[in-house]
Amino acid sequence: MEKANQISRRSFIQKGAIGTGALLLGQTLNALSKEKKMGIALVGLGYYSSGQLAPALQHTKNCYLAGIVTGTPAKAETWAKKYNIPQKNIYNYQNFDEIAKNPDIDIVYIVLPVSMHKEFTIRAAKAGKHVLCEKPMALNASECRDMIAACKKANRLLSIGYRLHFEPHTLEVMRLGQKKVFGKVTQIDTGNGFTYGGDPNAWRLKKAMAGGGGLMDMGIYSIQGSRYTLGEEPIAVRATQEKTKPELFKEVDETVFWELKFPGGAKVTGKSSYNNNWGYLNVQAEHGNFELEPAFGYGGLDGKVNGKPMNIPNIIQQAAQMDDFATCVALNKQSRVPGEEGLKDMKIVDAIYRSLDSGKWENI
Ligand code: NAD
Repeated sequence: MEKANQISRRSFIQKGAIGTGALLLGQTLNALSKEKKMGIALVGLGYYSSGQLAPALQHTKNCYLAGIVTGTPAKAETWAKKYNIPQKNIYNYQNFDEIAKNPDIDIVYIVLPVSMHKEFTIRAAKAGKHVLCEKPMALNASECRDMIAACKKANRLLSIGYRLHFEPHTLEVMRLGQKKVFGKVTQIDTGNGFTYGGDPNAWRLKKAMAGGGGLMDMGIYSIQGSRYTLGEEPIAVRATQEKTKPELFKEVDETVFWELKFPGGAKVTGKSSYNNNWGYLNVQAEHGNFELEPAFGYGGLDGKVNGKPMNIPNIIQQAAQMDDFATCVALNKQSRVPGEEGLKDMKIVDAIYRSLDSGKWENI
C-alpha cells in the first residue's frame, strides 16, 4: 500500500467512522482502489495456502497477496516468481517479527499446524498487524482466550478462517433456521469427515501439534453447522468414539459421535471422522426440512429445501472471506467471525473430549 493512502486510512481509523468515513465506506463496499487494497501475508505455504488461499487472492477486490512467511527458502523463491512478491515482503519464522516495520502488510493470515496458531497470532498482533487465523483456532479454549486478549491489547482485529459464513447456501440455511421460516428447528443431524490416506507421520496425527484428530479438523464444521442453523449456543454434550485403525490414529481421535443439548430443545447429533467421507447437514423443522450435501467443503455446496433443489450458485469462498476481512480492517469493524466465534467452538470441542473421558454429559 502506498504511504499516502496508508496515512489517510490510518487517520480514518483513528477518527472513527464519522466524518471522513462516508467516502471510504462507499469505496469499500464496492472495491477498494488498487492503492488502498489491504496487503495480506500468508504464514505457512502448505496445502491450503498453495491450493486455495493464494489462488483465491487472485480474485479478491479488497486485498492482495503482498507477502509470505515460510521456513523453506525454495518455496520462497517459487512463490516470489509465481506471485510477483518482492524480496522485502518475504519472511521466515525467525525474522517474522520484523514484519512490524513493513507498511505493505496489513493482515497476517496464519495457515500453520494448530499448535502454532497461538504463537503466530500473538506475534502478529504485537507486530501491529490484523490477524486471520485458520480453524481450528487453537489447541483448546484457553489458548483462544490468550489470542483474543493479545489482539485486543494490541488494538488489532482477529478473525477465524470460517469461510462458510460468506457462502450463499450456508447463508440460506442460517436464514431458514434462525428466522424459523418453517417453524422451530426440531432436529439436526450432521457429519463431516474424510478418509485419511496421507503421511502417517504428519502433524495432523500428532496430538501435540493438532490438538486432536477428526474432531478438531472436520468436526468443527458440524459443530458450527448446528450452531449457525439454530442461532443458539449449546449447553451440554455427550460423546463416544470408535477406532478401527489404532495403529494410524495412535495419538488422535478417528471417529467421534456426539449429542448436543441446546436451550431451545432441538435434538442435535453430530459426528466427525478421519476414516469416513461425510459432509452433510440435515435439518428438520416443525413445518419443513432442509439439507446441504456437500455441506462444508469448498468444491461446491449443494442443497435441498423440502426436497427441492436450492439452485444457488457457488462462489470462491476464500475470496469472499478475505475481502470481507479487508473491508472490516478498512472500516475498523469487527468481523462476523471474530476470535470469539473460534472460542465458542473450542469450548464445545473441549467438552466433547471431557465427555469421551468421563462417558457422561459435560457442561459447555
Ligand atoms: P499443511 O501441512 O499442508 O501446511 C502447513 C504448513 O506449515 C506447511 O507449509 C509447513 O511447512 C508449515 N510448518 C511450519 N512449521 C511446521 C512444523 N513444525 N510442522 C509441520 N509443518 C510446519 O497443512 P494445511 O492443510 O495447509 O493446514 C494448515 C491450517 O489450515 C490448519 O489449521 C488447517 O486446519 C487449516 N485448513 C483449513 C481449511 C479450510 O477449508 N478452512 C482447509 C485446509 C486446511
